Amino acid sequence: MNTRAKQTCAVIGAGPAGLASAIRMANKGYQVTVFEANAHAGGKLSQSETNGYRFDMGPSVFTMPSFVDELYRISGKNPRDYYDYQPLDPVYRYFYEDGTHIVAYKSPERFAEEVATKTTENKDKILAYLQDVAYKYNLTADIFLHNSLHKVKNYLTKRVARGLWNFGKLEAFRTMDTANKHHFKDPRVVQLFNRYATYNGSNPYEAPATLNVIPHLEINLGAYLPHGGMYSITKGLVRLAEDLGVEFRFETKVEEIVLQQGRATGIRAKGETEAFDCVISNMDVYNTYKHLLPKAKKPQRTLSQPKSSSAIIFYWGIKHSFEQLGLHNIFFSDNYPAEFDHIFHKKQLYNDPTIYLNITSKYAKEDAPEGCENWFTMINAPHNDGQDNWDEMIAQTRENLIAKLSRHLKTDIRPLIECELIWEPRKIEALTSSAFGAIYGNSSNNKFAAFLRHANFSSSIKNLYFCGGSVHPGPSIPLCMLSAKITTDLIAPAVAAKG
Ligand SMILES: Cc1cc2nc3c(=O)[nH]c(=O)nc-3n(C[C@H](O)[C@H](O)[C@H](O)COP(=O)(O)OP(=O)(O)OC[C@H]3O[C@@H](n4cnc5c(N)ncnc54)[C@H](O)[C@@H]3O)c2cc1C
Repeated sequence: MNTRAKQTCAVIGAGPAGLASAIRMANKGYQVTVFEANAHAGGKLSQSETNGYRFDMGPSVFTMPSFVDELYRISGKNPRDYYDYQPLDPVYRYFYEDGTHIVAYKSPERFAEEVATKTTENKDKILAYLQDVAYKYNLTADIFLHNSLHKVKNYLTKRVARGLWNFGKLEAFRTMDTANKHHFKDPRVVQLFNRYATYNGSNPYEAPATLNVIPHLEINLGAYLPHGGMYSITKGLVRLAEDLGVEFRFETKVEEIVLQQGRATGIRAKGETEAFDCVISNMDVYNTYKHLLPKAKKPQRTLSQPKSSSAIIFYWGIKHSFEQLGLHNIFFSDNYPAEFDHIFHKKQLYNDPTIYLNITSKYAKEDAPEGCENWFTMINAPHNDGQDNWDEMIAQTRENLIAKLSRHLKTDIRPLIECELIWEPRKIEALTSSAFGAIYGNSSNNKFAAFLRHANFSSSIKNLYFCGGSVHPGPSIPLCMLSAKITTDLIAPAVAAKG
């Protein structure tokens, strides 16, 4: 009989990357305990219910589901026994102030045809752009996404060497907007592709054109909706973790990472210290250092990088159904540069913001009472920089959103709002410990931003690791899945899919 005790691992936070890390560590034979400050798992990937409406509170666009499925496969399970999803078609509906309405169909070919019909661009140009971003994604993925950027040996592989050799093609030295204007003349098409900067909380007028690879994931590879909403991803992962023997401690905020002679030896929560062989923090890295490692030497350069944008979301129960809307809808601002100037420089809310409106009840009727819709009405916003007028700005934004949507929909929506929840930067920080309420950690506006994200390990404290949207490779569900993989593979050898 093997009596050797299992090695132990503490995971701080049950966000998507924390859950994925716990599952991977359990597969590597560790006894894993997840400490979560909230009463539920998921972090930003959570849900709320009120007045018969269900809302996904954070992520709403699901891409690269294979990265989530991989967690089930390495565990010898069928992902479809835990959660399922369907491809979307169409994916988006874009509404412009001049009345243009573009439907983003699933097939790149059909999408290009639609853009060509509604704008002055031609179909071949759109398709060439989409092929180009696919090529760049394949060139960059190994360097920036699948491996630690902070281990020299990773620069010695053939694929990474190929990416570095072609670095010039990645357009790190011009902005997304400049590159998009080089490809397209029609400002509506430039705006459509500039929008993807917001997927990691950046400004298309500053962020490097390398980020123009983002639409590849959604337009070329497709977007999906999990059955039961985005929260079913969290529910599935918690169930899988439990099946693998992971222990969850909810409503247990970690207060300190315990250090002894340059090593992480455990955590302190509820005043009690508990020993672990290794510690993985899924808490935002800035706040990990600030709150859990107050005496440790801080990587100042990394932590002082500008933060990403945040968001204001009004979750509205709407007692009406709008036929012209789909699952994902965008109502563009008429002045995109001014909107980003407000978010990143003035740190205020612009009076004509681009609105993202997500309605899961278009697919899942159970998410709203009959004849009604659950509106997730979001705008990008500055992170909390200590502005003293948040309440005023949020109240004004609410008015602006009601006016803009009423104008587009030719219906006064104010009397249709029967219940409301709100997330805004201060609340996002309070609920998820995201520093300054920034949704995506550091912004990627700097061309070296990818290299300035914190590594997945501590270079000065042994047995301490980091995963999640605030560290390498960055935010979003797919990148959090990769973050967990990189982090846990640094601790113990990779586990292959079973069966
Ligand atoms: C409004 C919004 C829209 C978004 N849209 C999308 C989208 O469409 N698609 C997409 O892919 N991504 C989207 N994102 C981004 C995505 O949600 C994040 O990148 C992702 O959730 C980050 O996951 P994480 O694992 O880093 O942890 P988080 O989700 O940040 O969760 C961290 C967890 O750690 C816990 N924690 C923190 N400190 C402690 C402590 N000391 N002790 C115990 N527990 C602690 C927190 O309570 C929380 O549960 C969106 C985010 C928001 C807010």
